[in-house]
Amino acid sequence: MLEPRIFKILQEIVGSENVTAEDADRLCYSYDATQQKFLPDAVVFPADAEQIALVLKMANAEKIPVFPRGAGSGFSGGSLPVTGGIVLVTTRLDRILRIDTENLVAEVQPGVVTEQFQQAVEKLGLFYPPDPASLKFSTLGGNVAECAGGPRCVKYGVTKDYILGLQVVTPQGDIIKTGGETMKGVVGYDLTKLMCGSEGTLGIITRITIKLLPLPEAKKTMLVIFDSIDGAAQGVSAIIGGKIIPTTLEFMDAATLECVRQATGLQLPAAAKAVLIIEVDGDKELIERQAQQILQIVAPLGVVETRVAQTAAESEEIWKVRRSVSASLRKVNPDKFNEDICVPRSRVPDMIREVEAIATRHAIPIVNFGHAGDGNIHVNVMIDRKVPGQLEKAEKAIEEVFAAALKLGGTMSGEHGVGNTKSPYLPMELDPAAVTYMKAIKRALDPNHILNPGKIFLD
Ligand SMILES: Cc1cc2nc3c(=O)[nH]c(=O)nc-3n(C[C@H](O)[C@H](O)[C@H](O)COP(=O)(O)OP(=O)(O)OC[C@H]3O[C@@H](n4cnc5c(N)ncnc54)[C@H](O)[C@@H]3O)c2cc1C
Repeated sequence: MLEPRIFKILQEIVGSENVTAEDADRLCYSYDATQQKFLPDAVVFPADAEQIALVLKMANAEKIPVFPRGAGSGFSGGSLPVTGGIVLVTTRLDRILRIDTENLVAEVQPGVVTEQFQQAVEKLGLFYPPDPASLKFSTLGGNVAECAGGPRCVKYGVTKDYILGLQVVTPQGDIIKTGGETMKGVVGYDLTKLMCGSEGTLGIITRITIKLLPLPEAKKTMLVIFDSIDGAAQGVSAIIGGKIIPTTLEFMDAATLECVRQATGLQLPAAAKAVLIIEVDGDKELIERQAQQILQIVAPLGVVETRVAQTAAESEEIWKVRRSVSASLRKVNPDKFNEDICVPRSRVPDMIREVEAIATRHAIPIVNFGHAGDGNIHVNVMIDRKVPGQLEKAEKAIEEVFAAALKLGGTMSGEHGVGNTKSPYLPMELDPAAVTYMKAIKRALDPNHILNPGKIFLD
């Protein structure tokens, strides 16, 4: 528990209505999407960078850990107060400060919800591509801190590709500006990129300058249903190998489809064993041509049925299927581990075969879906924690999934980050000198180790 005098200081900084140590509130901020639970001692809701700086200065003086949190939708435990301490929530910093239609740049506070920002720029004919499936609730600050990806990233790149500059409160409570508004800039180290994907361990992002694109004229969404997982996986590498980069290339296997069917009533032919959701965008002629090319490429790979959306509503229906996956899996099987390995795109079929072999070896269901066009597969190990031995089996299977991804030239995480869930596995991917280099950065910036301790590194 926080000492009453510390609680009083927090009240003075953010106002007494914006700090709480009530049990119910502490419980609300004790979890994320990983099903772990760590109770904070207090939760604060600052209004601006200056208040955040004061909280961090006090935390350094008193050696109290602080855990930045946006919407708490992370899949690696990044926002969880693993050692107790203060959870600092950014949801009051929720303003879109400006959208500059001449320079195609926007400036926002970190608590803005991703989809609300996308909708605001689209009204002006502009486009912010990164679209994590959590976009209805995730915050832009959380997206930057995790360098979030999403279906459209296969064509447009990930969050860091759209971040021009940041305002950051350093772990010791200084307010700094990184980058700027220009499309180029090479003065000093690229601190903006360092912050992207730093998982709340190197500073608290309080302002984000974002690069925008013109909104594509049109898009075409297709649901292609295959009679085998291998056919769909080969479809991914065949499309990319055919030198077409669609806007999205999402994959779901039969077990994922079954969970979605049970949860949402989705209708699919009995022969459906996997689907790809493929979208192309651009001018109308280009997308018609690309859609035809794609359908020709996948046709010999066991296509059972193709559904091409004719209206925006039909396109949204197809996307609803994809966005409901996570919740559907959870509904059917509440105990699951969602890992997000990423392999070179041509190795997607090999990775799927490796996962199937691991599932068979451990006699444990593993469900696959995800951004296959990026080689980023969400491998969901499904267990029932109440069954003795299942948790241990799952942990072994997860380690083998990571080893398989690395063997194929991939990575343990394409977009969910390390958090506390993957920190034990870090040495599998990074050599010791690289880990030492990273820890040296963390130590230099946060000598008291108060900002989001217990994340990325085990110690
Ligand atoms: C259903 C579902 C679907 C998802 N789909 C995707 C997907 O397609 N792609 C993808 O990449 N992720 C996905 N995610 C994971 C998650 O939504 C993303 O990681 C998202 O970026 C987290 O945003 P958040 O606001 O919830 O951040 P939180 O979970 O609150 O925090 C995530 C990390 O960011 C840090 N952080 C938050 N705000 C700040 C800040 N202002 N300054 C510094 N650090 C900060 C936290 O300390 C933590 O380490 C999904 C999650 C769910 C539940």
